[in-house]
Amino acid sequence: MIGIAVVSHSPRLAQSAVDLALEMVGAEGPAIAIAAGAGDGVTGTDAIKVAEAITEVSSPDGVLVMMDLGSAVMSAEMALEFLSDADGPVKLTSAPFVEGLMAAVVRAAGGASLDDVEREARGALQAKQTHLGDDDDELPGPQAGPAAEHSIEVALRNPHGLHARPVAMLVTAVSAFEATVTVANVRSGGLPVPANSPTALLGVGARQGDTISVAAAGRQAREALDAVNALVQRGFGELETPGAVAVPEDCAARPDRERSSEASSGGPIGVSPGLAVGPIVRMPEPLAEPAPAPELTLNERAEAVDRIEAAAASVARALIDKANRVSGAAREILEVTSMMATDPGLIGDARARVTDDGHTPERAVWAAVSDITSIFREQGGLLAERIPDLHDVRNRIVAELLGRPAPGLPDRAEPYVLVARDLAPADTALIDPALCRAIVTVEGGPTSHTAILARALGVPAVVAARHALEIREGSVVIVDGTTGMIVVDPTDEQVATAEQESGRVVAFDGTGRTLDGHRVQLLANVASPDSVAAALEANAEGVGLFRTEFCFLDHEEAPDVEEQVAAYRRVFAAFPGQKVIIRTLDAGADKPLAFVTAEDEANPALGIRGYRTAWRSPKLLDSQLQAIAIAAAAEAADVGVMAPMIATVDESIEFASRCADHGLRTVGVMIETPAAAITALDILQVVDFASLGTNDLAQYTMAADRLAGELALLNDPWQPAVLRMIREACRAGVATGKPVGVCGEAAADPLLAAILVGLGVTSLSMSPRALGGVAELLRSVTVEQCRDAAATVVAASSATMARTTAAALLVRA
Ligand code: PEP
Ligand code: MG
Repeated sequence: MIGIAVVSHSPRLAQSAVDLALEMVGAEGPAIAIAAGAGDGVTGTDAIKVAEAITEVSSPDGVLVMMDLGSAVMSAEMALEFLSDADGPVKLTSAPFVEGLMAAVVRAAGGASLDDVEREARGALQAKQTHLGDDDDELPGPQAGPAAEHSIEVALRNPHGLHARPVAMLVTAVSAFEATVTVANVRSGGLPVPANSPTALLGVGARQGDTISVAAAGRQAREALDAVNALVQRGFGELETPGAVAVPEDCAARPDRERSSEASSGGPIGVSPGLAVGPIVRMPEPLAEPAPAPELTLNERAEAVDRIEAAAASVARALIDKANRVSGAAREILEVTSMMATDPGLIGDARARVTDDGHTPERAVWAAVSDITSIFREQGGLLAERIPDLHDVRNRIVAELLGRPAPGLPDRAEPYVLVARDLAPADTALIDPALCRAIVTVEGGPTSHTAILARALGVPAVVAARHALEIREGSVVIVDGTTGMIVVDPTDEQVATAEQESGRVVAFDGTGRTLDGHRVQLLANVASPDSVAAALEANAEGVGLFRTEFCFLDHEEAPDVEEQVAAYRRVFAAFPGQKVIIRTLDAGADKPLAFVTAEDEANPALGIRGYRTAWRSPKLLDSQLQAIAIAAAAEAADVGVMAPMIATVDESIEFASRCADHGLRTVGVMIETPAAAITALDILQVVDFASLGTNDLAQYTMAADRLAGELALLNDPWQPAVLRMIREACRAGVATGKPVGVCGEAAADPLLAAILVGLGVTSLSMSPRALGGVAELLRSVTVEQCRDAAATVVAASSATMARTTAAALLVRA
């Protein structure tokens, strides 16, 4: 891709023009460097700065230099004389500064050559001139190209027709194909213009409802037309403003800079499909230890003691109320917890800290609970298991004393949409899908465990919604967990449509295959025995990933073999004769387990997590393998066992041998580090199968924390680098004849699922709700189409290009 150097008298003018141009292409734009002002805030230009800017964006494809006027041109010319180490040709253009820059950025993003970009930039005034009837025949007009072989006519559906953003998408889409494409507006009867020319397309003046005639010639003419048609049918993504938060009025005054940075960082992302409507309820911020405070005077202490008793009684009452609304185990737990709140030992200790030492009530309660938890921890066993309940009681009493909302999930009897900065997996796992209609978080990425659990629960979810906390509590919202759209205060009509749509489910008949009958096993990801019902209901062909760590998130101590056997048997028993792949504990990073996760690691995602925990706690792995073997022998499921976070062949050999010691016959590993993907051929020589953990594979390939909302654009399995890693592992599968599945979230994206099949993946495992959509798309394409599409898509230059190309090749309009 060429680079662009922008030379202006004014840094503000240059920056604004660049911002405007980049809005058309987002993160996929060319490298741009600005040389503006003469230093110290003085308006002017400086040849040295221009030379530096050119060098900064220098590329073998060349650099285009855009200038405003007068001395900017002279400085740019002079800069060429200083330039010693540009990597390719450098071209100065007389193109108009703003329109030319926009045209150049779009064309460059589509991979056009330096000459084509320059020609486009110079012709950039044409749309404006045509509109004002001010055509100038002297200007270089776009070339329409050779005679067309295929054509279609389509009506524009999006509200503003071919304006800048759709034009940029159209140019990007057609550049992916070996075809010459033209577009003409049938209404105005204008001549066809090339579809790779943004300015010419803008000049077509096509509005909503207009029919455009799209013609194409060349080897991939039909594919290019399909791509254009798919874009038009989807309204260029503008029919439902995907990814946009419709901000409430009181947020509307936010500076533009902030809004555009949200767009460029990925904005809100739908991570668990489905539509939901409901009033917003905010998750209270987590409670921190109360700060030290001056000692209470003797007169203050009596009142402080009364406050502790009142707060404890109020918490106990609230818990009893809650218990009365549920039944079974949940009721028992709540009743016991309510008793803890008024436990005489606990309250007595807190009182003594106030009366004897002058502690504030909140610090007294905090310290009293800390002492009890240390004793429980030392005792271990069942007492240690109660520590989370004690912490819950402590937090509730302290919140009551501080006049803050009770921590943890909001206690509601009516349906609501949960908004939180972030959610711990433990909180997400407790969500009641009957009440919590949708989840919206400010942080988090598509592969965060909150997103995964939301999918498992069947609750629509949107992450990276940076302004979600600004939405007023109680406002009604529509949340679209597919597109990431959040509509605040929707109209009655919008609510009615959303409610109707939210009931639609695509069913899966229980056999995954392509149109021509190529078998692809479609399996379910299971987080605990409780989530088995959803997998059975969705007709899953088995389980491709049983995340055992989710069974023990609330354990302070490692579960014994007996407890594990009981949990594993419940899952195995549900799938007699069917495949169940159970994964050994994948603790660490965002899934800490109190009994195994290393404390104080500087960089937990790169630390002792996954299989590495067995280095520190080998007995834990052995007890798990023993439990798996006992459970597998007791049930009729076809059990396979695999290890997470494998990075070396040696680890794979070691794991296989430990499994063999326990009589486990089908042994595999997860490929979720680039190291494992690259050495997959060697790894597959020593195990029976591999399963691609695309969530972590994306995180580690792109060096982007999967929890960071701001990095969501990088943390995307469509990134060509990730797709090429997957291809590497699939090649190893084909070469060794061993199965390679995918159990990361990539498997749940129907379009990507088809690409994965094309790359050679043999099974796909996903949240049960995604099975219908994936099965439906696979049934509409042949394996040959998947293979052809995969070959083109892995060669894409960006994630957007990969997605658009896949849609164009595989989705029927
Ligand atoms: C993955 O990384 O893709 C995966 C399936 O494992 P987890 O999401 O549990 O880390
Ligand atoms: Mg993983």
